[in-house]
Amino acid sequence: MMGPAHSLSGAAAWLGVGAAAAGMGEPMPWPVLLAGALICAGAALAPDLDHKAATISRAFGPVSRALCEVIDNLSYAVYKATRGKGDPRRSGGHRTLTHTWLWAVLCGAGAAAVAVYGGRWGVLVVLFVHMVLAIEGLLWRHARVSSDVLVWLLGATSAWMLAEVLDKPGNGSQWLFEEPGQQYLWIGLPIALGALVHCLGDALTVSGCPVLWPIPIGRRRWYPIGPPKGMRFRAGSWVEIKVLTPVFMGVGGVCGAGALGFFGNG
Ligand SMILES: [Zn+2]
Repeated sequence: MMGPAHSLSGAAAWLGVGAAAAGMGEPMPWPVLLAGALICAGAALAPDLDHKAATISRAFGPVSRALCEVIDNLSYAVYKATRGKGDPRRSGGHRTLTHTWLWAVLCGAGAAAVAVYGGRWGVLVVLFVHMVLAIEGLLWRHARVSSDVLVWLLGATSAWMLAEVLDKPGNGSQWLFEEPGQQYLWIGLPIALGALVHCLGDALTVSGCPVLWPIPIGRRRWYPIGPPKGMRFRAGSWVEIKVLTPVFMGVGGVCGAGALGFFGNG
């Protein structure tokens, strides 16, 4: 899938978590719902860091271009090293290592560690990266008309404002993990969820997604998971733009309303 569909499905997934939490009588504070939905929207672009034309690889100028190069080479090396007898030869790393559940978990854990051990600046860095991605993903071509620098400024301002709101007592920096020293530990959850949702989105496309690696399936370790061939679509096709994108918006809206208690359960 392309950027907007990935980002919208990420936001909808976190709003779904919020609705489920409200349904279980443990509603999220609204700043956690909002920040989590934006972080998840941004994180849902992250796995494509193995492809130089992807939004994330362009989003941070030379920094992300260099990182993309490293990740692509690393992914390709891991693919070659762990290829099963039934896995085909391939010429690059796109849709391999970064499109797995293990990568999603590692990203979530890594970001949580930066937020917890990096103090206020750690939190701001994690928020900044994901706000820039969320802006690029959700606004898509509309963000492209402006310069990168403007998008970064907007990302930095929103990161700063979100941190201010979350830091107020009861607003969510201590959400879910309440022991002292666990502020912002939860931030890993929307990040891991975003990456997983990205993989599920890619699984719906023609090439599928090897999300279960390194768990072997038959003679393959990189088995491309997906629905039966007839139910898959091409990335950027009309199904994605005319059907999935509005569905993600609708589901996200309903879940968001549910999470905030509009249906009387909050
Ligand atoms: Zn992808």
